[in-house]
Amino acid sequence: MNEFDFINKLRRRVESSASSFIPHPSTLVRGIGDDAAVFKAMAGNDVVVSTDLLVEDVDFRRDTTRPELLGHKALAVSLSDVAAMGARPRWALLSIGVPDAVWNSEFLDSFYSGFFELAARYGVTLVGGDVSRTPDRIVIDSILIGETPKAGAVFRSGAAPGDQIFVTGYLGDAAAGLRLIERGARLPLRTDQSAQAKSEAGEHHRLEYLLLRQLQPEPGVGWGLLLGEQQLASAMIDISDGLSSDLNHLCAESKVGALIDAAGIPIDPLVTELSGRRALDPLMLALHGGEDFELLFTVKPEMVARLPSRVDGVSLTHIGEIKGASAGVQIAEGSKTWKLEPGGWQHFKEARGRT
Ligand code: ADP
Ligand code: MG
Repeated sequence: MNEFDFINKLRRRVESSASSFIPHPSTLVRGIGDDAAVFKAMAGNDVVVSTDLLVEDVDFRRDTTRPELLGHKALAVSLSDVAAMGARPRWALLSIGVPDAVWNSEFLDSFYSGFFELAARYGVTLVGGDVSRTPDRIVIDSILIGETPKAGAVFRSGAAPGDQIFVTGYLGDAAAGLRLIERGARLPLRTDQSAQAKSEAGEHHRLEYLLLRQLQPEPGVGWGLLLGEQQLASAMIDISDGLSSDLNHLCAESKVGALIDAAGIPIDPLVTELSGRRALDPLMLALHGGEDFELLFTVKPEMVARLPSRVDGVSLTHIGEIKGASAGVQIAEGSKTWKLEPGGWQHFKEARGRT
């Protein structure tokens, strides 16, 4: 298949599904097939743009994921960025560089299945991209365009002392999944039917869930939209590098400090359950693990009562309070308080991005 057949196939795929899920089809003037995509200026709205580069053997490994999961993740990481701006995702551009062997395989079909499945769920339309050849590794560039009402974007820089700090979902799942992958766990997990395998089936199911939290992250689109549209968050960031790093980023941009409570950090009971026998430290995973793609945000005290407890089935947890800059970023565990260093666990700096 040559490049033009490939693009035409993608174009047909987009056009055949378009009518069923694009929320506002009239604003797209020209999608795939011209020198550039055209959409009508979204009058009165602000435009949000994010790009993410995924490089094989740096950001993912072909042998520990599946093509459709990679297609999902390429879009998910961008959806998470747009969600963290409090914006609604609208248009995607996806560029790929692949070696010949990948081009001549089923890989891209499956990859795009994962991409389109997630795009459909959030009303995102693929409006363009580019294709090139690489010597032997896959490179993916995912661009996502979203919109907010005028001046409605939520920045990292809006937090003030007294604001309350929240996170969505559970932290540390993706890092636990990565550790399991590093120790040899793979999808699909063992399905043989020996007596021992049967007794371990429940555990395999839980392991698989954690692997998928790493390989197929669910972006917080619903939470981001709600917090943005209702102007409930004073500052927001998505947790891609780990709570310790991303809280430090938010505080640096806002020129504030913070105090969080270790006991309040939402740790998945699954991680706690698996951690003992596998010598994983759930708090370290939650603080420094990264790639959970949950949202970390701050809320003015008088607005806290307006927060819902769940959005799209994802819970919300209060973890602390914004302080003055001189307080620094600190974490309390019992009666002890220490400085929360970004990415404090060196091991994860090395381990990150090898799935
Ligand atoms: P040019 O050489 O001008 O970049 P291309 O042949 O690369 O033209 O692109 C022609 C059209 O096909 C454009 O609309 C472009 O966005 C689209 N396109 C190319 N590659 C992809 C891709 N991987 N995914 C989606 N659209 C693509
Ligand atoms: Mg091109």
